[in-house]
This record gives sequence, C-alpha cells and structure tokens, in this order.
Amino acid sequence: MHPTRDTTLEILSDLIGFPTVSADSNLALIDYVAEYLGKLGASVHTFRDPGGTKANIFATIGPEVDGGIVLSGHSDVVPVTDQVWSSDPFGMRIAEGKAYGRGTCDMKGFIAAALAMAPHYARCELKRPVHFAFTYDEEVGCLGAQALMHELALLPFKPAVCIIGEPTEMRIIEGHKGCCEYTVTFSGLEGHGSQPDLGVNAVEYAVRYVTRLMELREVLKRRSPEGSRFDPPWTSLQIGRLSGGVAHNVIPGLAHLDWEMRPVQNGDADFVKREIAAYVKDDLLPAMRAISKDADISTEIIGEVDGLEPVPESEALKIVAELTGANGADLVAFGTEAGLFQKLGISTVVCGPGSIEQAHKPDEFIALDQIDQCLVMLDKLTAKLTG
Ligand SMILES: [Zn+2]
Repeated sequence: MHPTRDTTLEILSDLIGFPTVSADSNLALIDYVAEYLGKLGASVHTFRDPGGTKANIFATIGPEVDGGIVLSGHSDVVPVTDQVWSSDPFGMRIAEGKAYGRGTCDMKGFIAAALAMAPHYARCELKRPVHFAFTYDEEVGCLGAQALMHELALLPFKPAVCIIGEPTEMRIIEGHKGCCEYTVTFSGLEGHGSQPDLGVNAVEYAVRYVTRLMELREVLKRRSPEGSRFDPPWTSLQIGRLSGGVAHNVIPGLAHLDWEMRPVQNGDADFVKREIAAYVKDDLLPAMRAISKDADISTEIIGEVDGLEPVPESEALKIVAELTGANGADLVAFGTEAGLFQKLGISTVVCGPGSIEQAHKPDEFIALDQIDQCLVMLDKLTAKLTG
C-alpha cells in the first residue's frame, strides 16, 4: 500500500493554497503539517520565530535515537508581485503532465512527496528514525534554518543524514558555495574641501576599506582548496556598490559600501571577517577618531548563508546514490540550507524533484514524472530505515 502520485498531488494542492510568501506568516501551513504528522503518531515539535508569526517544524517517525535521516525543505516561497501568471499562483492547476503553482518546484513538491510517504513509514517497524524538518524564511537568508539548528543542537539524539529536497531534477548535489552579503556605513565629518584635514572623509576611508578587501581577495585565491571543483575554484569577493559624497568641494561625511563573498570553505569567510575587522579597529577607526570622536564604521549583515562543502566519505551521498541509482554528484551555483545541517555534523546532500529553471518564475511548475521519481527514492528509503 504505497502512496500514489495522487496522494502527493492532493497534499501539494493544499500546500500551494497556503500563500507562504517569505514576508508573510507560514503558521497555517505549519499547523496543517503538524496535524497531519501528529495523526500518524509522529513526535512533532514546532518552534516560533521571535515575532511569533512564523514557525519551523521538526517531527520524528520511529525511535528517537541517533542516526536518523532528515527530509528537509523550506515552507516559504518567493513573491508573485509583478509577475504575469496564466492562472492563480496559489491554486494548483494540472495540465500536460505538469502541476502549476507558486512553490510547486521550490519546494513544496518535495514536502508533499515526503508527507505522502509518511503514513507508510509510520506503518513500518523503523530501526532508524525519519525526521521531517520544514523551515521558514529560506528565501530571505535561511533565517528559519539558522534558528532550527539551535533547537536541533539541543535534541537528546542526533540525526546522521539529511536530504534537502531543493529542485535538482533528482540529481545529487554535494556542494555549493556560501553567500555572505554586507552593507558597511562610513560616518565621517563633513567639511569644506579647502581644508581636508579638518574633516573625516567618509568616501576616502571607504576606498581604503575596499583596497584592503581587494588585497584579501588575492589571498583567498592562494587559499583555494586542493582539487576544488568550484568555478572559480576559490572564494570570490566583489564590491557591488560604493556611494557617498555630494559635490567636488565638500568633504563627504557619509559613505555606503555593499560587498559580497562566496566562500568555498567556511574558514574563508571567518578569515576575511577577522582581517577586515582588525584593519578597521587598528588602522581606520583610530585615524578617523583622531579628528572626530563620533566617526564610525558599522557593518550590517544582509545575509550569511553557509556553503555546502563536498566531502570525500559522505554517508548522505552514498545513501542517496543507492536510492536514485546516480553515480556521482554535482556542484551548483545556488545556495540552500544544506551548509547549516553540515555544520551541525549531519552528512548532507541536496536532491529533489523539479528544476531550478522553473523556480521563482511566473507559471512555476513541477513535472509529474519528477514527483514519481522522488516517490521512488522515498519509497526505497524505507529499506534504509528498517534494515
Ligand atoms: Zn528553494
């Protein structure tokens, strides 16, 4: 008695009906999932965000012991604002072998397939638990997953493997770069251009900061991990925007800098952050404050998404390769929550139905045969849980 594609589509239709755009609440969806899994006898935990309008859910079927397998997905979707859809994005429509709707491929299709399999797992004598981890705010910097990691670290048991069901057309992804974005504000002291020594030129300090970042960029190339398959193989860093000043003859009191880096290994981001912070503390700030004690450099973290580092002996890769019949794994350019699970010591790969090509676009869809392939993988997973 295995779930059919029809069960998955019924659940998917329900999930699409919750307009869980990242800016809005996802509580109705989380309640739906909690009730569904609770009825099956799962141990269900939900965790609200600080504002109380969003939640993560973590549920377990089987014994609450070490070594479980996590099926993970994000519940939020990107907005449909300014997009022209052929039909209601929050009402699922099936046509020509595809299910249309916001979130069908990114990534409620995977969540629906996992939920459709849950009654089957619940009927089996599981030796190894299966966990369901669904988060909020993935699309705006993996905020929900970061909060969930604190909760998972407190569990009395530790999962061994995690499958992130982002749309990969069921290919296995073993690595992606991280993404760190920052906005830095330089507050100096305005003055007349004829007397530069009496002001603190915010733009000039911003330029010195940028110059230091560009030096660090060269160091990052030398830190490139041996045999790195990323393109480019090292952690990249670039300046996205630099603004400040009003006119030729005015010392600018304010400057803003947007910059980003894409780490291939977590140590790189820490390295750059440490080096630039030391430069600010030891060089820039003392020089600025010698003129104006109110001068400041402040950094806003726009997002810090950990990368997924490919590792040689990956249990997740081994298991998912057996389930899908894949021989090998790829790297991708898009970010996921995978790096956060990996950081917690859980072997993690990304593998899910649908194509990233359709994600975030109008008339987003998932091909029904992708759902079938996902169900095959989740069905074969049973043997790993019972054996
Ligand atoms: Zn996604």
